[in-house]
Amino acid sequence: MPSPRPPKPAASPLRRTPAPELKARARRISTRLRRHYPDAGTALHFDGPFQLLIATILSAQCTDEAVNRVTPELFQRYRDPAAFAAADAAEIEKLIHSTGFFRQKTRSIQNCSRALLERHGGRVPEAMEELTALPGVGRKTANLVRACAMGHPGLIVDTHFKRVIGRLGLTAETDPDRIEFAVAELLPPSHWTHFSNALIWHGRRICTARKPRCPECPVCPDCDFGRPHCTGRLTMKG
Ligand code: SF4
Repeated sequence: MPSPRPPKPAASPLRRTPAPELKARARRISTRLRRHYPDAGTALHFDGPFQLLIATILSAQCTDEAVNRVTPELFQRYRDPAAFAAADAAEIEKLIHSTGFFRQKTRSIQNCSRALLERHGGRVPEAMEELTALPGVGRKTANLVRACAMGHPGLIVDTHFKRVIGRLGLTAETDPDRIEFAVAELLPPSHWTHFSNALIWHGRRICTARKPRCPECPVCPDCDFGRPHCTGRLTMKG
């Protein structure tokens, strides 16, 4: 009997091979960002994958700083999925009230905690498919947890990533999942996590939504939007 064929790798849903120049530009941008933000990581405070998962659910529609203000007491009161699942919802709502959408977030946290208990014995799974099957967990959250708490390569497409990648002109995609797949074609996995975190910091500090500060931007020569505003102190080389 013939041995079964190995499964085919999952094809990119975009089905396009990026031009070599685009790949080279993405590499240069990634290298420059690494130089500019050598220690870039998530701004959320956490200890372990479960805390990062909860912190990320809380970060929807609010700043990481606002989340960091509520999580110390929250995680002291509820230490694991069992504690969150059994908690009085009103107590959680009170603790996370300042992060906004507190009822919806409490529901998501408790549903997610219950699913972790029922399906994974209270542990956060590592597989992308298992993470995204949890209530309230999309690819951004799953990538963030896998990348920043588990050490897997991941592209974290949040609102800053989405805005900056569009201005850079590295992809014309606008859907976050499609942006992730497009950028995955441009950079090797070893770049993904740092590139994401650095791009997010860059979006907060320099390439802000209101007014990008292109003349002082380290990736200006490689940016479609910013190139006309470069000062000339930067060159296209590395
Ligand atoms: S050059 Fe301007 S638009 Fe481009 S990434 Fe830098 S700040 Fe953003």
